[in-house]
Amino acid sequence: MALFKPLLRATRSFVYRVIYRGTGRWCPVCEQPSRRFAPFGNPRRAQAMCPHCGALERHRLLALFVEKKTNLYTQPDLRMLHVAPEPCFESHLRARVGAGYLTADLEDSHADVRMDITHIEYPDATFDAGWLGAHHGADHRGADVRGSERHRSEGA
Ligand SMILES: [Zn+2]
Repeated sequence: MALFKPLLRATRSFVYRVIYRGTGRWCPVCEQPSRRFAPFGNPRRAQAMCPHCGALERHRLLALFVEKKTNLYTQPDLRMLHVAPEPCFESHLRARVGAGYLTADLEDSHADVRMDITHIEYPDATFDAGWLGAHHGADHRGADVRGSERHRSEGA
């Protein structure tokens, strides 16, 4: 079962590369052109998912925002913690942030470290930036993330 998901993803990626080959669209997450974006969702949204990296509309918008409106990609020696990393963003951020990029997840064995977001195992100020995966994190944890972060910032 552990090999099934990556194999399915690789097969889908190959098929999508053939079907969506072209230059009508450009994904700011993986920086790959495609004829169009693939439909996705329930109900299905046309032009929703990048056929190369799986980035959805919100991922592409976030990638553009980070690139245009923040210094995350230009700040030297940035240390970033990415909790519950989205597969499409992980390689994107790892390539841009470099050695200071660390992924953490409670359940995903592919993350750099296994960690519960409510018990961050690093001292305060270890990281310059944090990134919480949109589809995991607080939704799956059922945790009071805001309360936890407020607790940490108050020095308690
Ligand atoms: Zn993409």
